[in-house]
Amino acid sequence: MRTLLILGATGSIGTTALNAVRQKKLDVRITGLVAHSSSDRLRALAEEFSCPFTLNTDSSSLRSFIRANRADIALNAIAGAAGLEASLFCLQEGMDLALANKESVVMGGQVLFDEAKKNKARIIPVDSEHSAIYHLLKGRPDAESLVITASGGPFLGRGDLENVSPEEAANHPTWKMGRKISIDSSTLANKGLEVIEAGFLFNMPADRIEVTIHRQSVVHSMVRMKDGSVYAQLSPPDMTLPIVSAVNDDRQVLHEVVRPLSFSGLTLTFQDWDRTEFPLLALAYKALERKKSYPVAFNAADEVAVAAFCDRKIRYTDIARIVSAVMEEDWSAEITSYEDIIVQDRLARLKAGQLCSCHI
Ligand code: NAD
Ligand code: MG
Repeated sequence: MRTLLILGATGSIGTTALNAVRQKKLDVRITGLVAHSSSDRLRALAEEFSCPFTLNTDSSSLRSFIRANRADIALNAIAGAAGLEASLFCLQEGMDLALANKESVVMGGQVLFDEAKKNKARIIPVDSEHSAIYHLLKGRPDAESLVITASGGPFLGRGDLENVSPEEAANHPTWKMGRKISIDSSTLANKGLEVIEAGFLFNMPADRIEVTIHRQSVVHSMVRMKDGSVYAQLSPPDMTLPIVSAVNDDRQVLHEVVRPLSFSGLTLTFQDWDRTEFPLLALAYKALERKKSYPVAFNAADEVAVAAFCDRKIRYTDIARIVSAVMEEDWSAEITSYEDIIVQDRLARLKAGQLCSCHI
């Protein structure tokens, strides 16, 4: 039986993955569970799935746990920058990686893919848009461009966002997710991270990645071919499918992972996004165009600004202002190692932190 290690087991993606195992949509033996908080829940899950667990408190114990509980594939569903180190540890153990933690790709860039290559390990995206593109590109590798769909979040077309609360911003219209990604979905910073993620995953320049607003979250992304045709992947908005298909990786024919899509009464709409309404998405495009340390700085600044907003230290509209100010700095330092990434990440966090304090 295929074996699976789950990192970020108590979060939204981790819970969906474990439900898929319970419901036998995923035929795997779990070798270990990792999380950062909720130790009682983690202990109960480890008992249920008869596997060891650890609360990640430091790098060396995480590395030893991953090494001791090696699996065929690891699902990295850790939230935020901490996911990068875990991804690298899994790849260094030669494990394939079902990757939900988009920050690993955004921050890691070429360093992550070089590590995978060196260890003959594969990176299979779990993010629904990238999962869609990954499957669409099989058999049609010569896409002209990638079209990533965005729900537009809870505030699309609404002005006057100065006094929005973290709870309102985290209330996503179509997906139930962790807090950071939900807030990022409202500013479209999440789409920005996904544009960068797609650039690295599929080796596409920024000008061949489109974003279209699609409120229903049924079309998970598309590929545009040179002949003018466009292929799309459609399914109900449920992360079970991208998780199960990444972990399964074409090994078994999957049946009824999500309910069949009904076309009765289904309306699909698409609209352009506005650069002034969503400056964070525009900044992410710039980060992908420039590469070097810009993607690391974008991710770090956004993480710091969102955390400050959640702590009610800055206003909702300050998130974009702070990320924009950080991106104005010089991030042209080349990145060739994990250490380089950490240095640039710290610098960007420091800068963003200073800017957040000025807004109090
Ligand atoms: P979440 O906040 O619900 O869960 C995060 C999990 O990671 C928790 O189990 C937490 O304990 C664990 N964690 C946090 N820091 C850790 C650390 N340092 N070491 C070990 N574990 C740690 O987040 P989520 O919504 O499940 O998202 C997880 C990742 O998947 C993010 O990168 C997100 O962008 C991505 N993603 C999520 C969704 C979704 O539907 N939720 C969709 C696409 C991509
Ligand atoms: Mg996504």
